[in-house]
Amino acid sequence: MKKLISSILFMVLTVTVSYGWKLADYGDLKFQKANANVYIMHGPAEEPSVKNQGFMNNPAFIESKNGLIVIDPGGNYNVGKKVLEEIEKVSKKPIIAVMNTHKHGDHWFANVAIAKKYPKVPIYAHPNMIKEVKAGEADKWYGILDRLSHNLKGTKPYKFPNHELKDGQKIDIDGQKFLIHHPKKAHTDTDIIIEHLNSSTIFLGDNVMKNRFGGFDESSSILGNIALLENIKKDTNAKLYVPGHGPSGKKDETIDPFLNYMKILVKYAQKAYDNDEEYYTVKPEAIKALSAYKNWDAFDHQMGKHLNKAYREIEAKDME
Ligand SMILES: [Zn+2]
Repeated sequence: MKKLISSILFMVLTVTVSYGWKLADYGDLKFQKANANVYIMHGPAEEPSVKNQGFMNNPAFIESKNGLIVIDPGGNYNVGKKVLEEIEKVSKKPIIAVMNTHKHGDHWFANVAIAKKYPKVPIYAHPNMIKEVKAGEADKWYGILDRLSHNLKGTKPYKFPNHELKDGQKIDIDGQKFLIHHPKKAHTDTDIIIEHLNSSTIFLGDNVMKNRFGGFDESSSILGNIALLENIKKDTNAKLYVPGHGPSGKKDETIDPFLNYMKILVKYAQKAYDNDEEYYTVKPEAIKALSAYKNWDAFDHQMGKHLNKAYREIEAKDME
């Protein structure tokens, strides 16, 4: 009898523990231990939508002795509340810091949910991000995400980052050591790459995406992004690499698909440029060469724009 009761109790506990955020067709979303004291909830690797409620990034947290350090809590207030609930299922420790990888709202608009519970929490980002989100980037992203997800309620007023992290800076938060890298221009000109030294984890932000494509906006550089990833491959050997969207993993399996995508784009853009042709003349060939990526989310409407961007960068470089 005792055995029966304890096995029922065990089952009940198991069910309780495995329960996560049930989001549309995405199953049970929850934080998983990814490496040492690093937990990640990988969002759906696709465009923001009504179905995914605007949740499609990879919120993460690091557990220190006395608290939790959250990286990129998500794209709106409602998502942030869910992320917070899921964090609390793993650890009841307070959130003692937040870090934002870059200016795009799908990564940081959920700051507002964290700050509602922890009004004094320091939020760290690169100074360029702090400047640009206040100068209009937040409103621009509010428009994009509201149109696509219809789930921005409660996101304004924004909770902007309020502490600066610069290139090469080392920071210790409750015994957790971070080394910050800022590529001048890669995914944007506001990015930080966060190296968590205790666990040997590198948070790449949107300098790497897997299984989905996002935009390369005016502040980005495809050539800069390629150079950055080649340096990361050469200079680092971490245990875990975390992209801004899509699954985390070892160095090459995480970085190579996106890096090779950009290199193929540049190869065809260069060919068109050398032949004095417009970028779209090589588009059919480039699509063939990129067949491995055709199932990545948003390939059809992003790839042509990316090829055009690569072409314009090659042209600009040639004019220098
Ligand atoms: Zn981004």
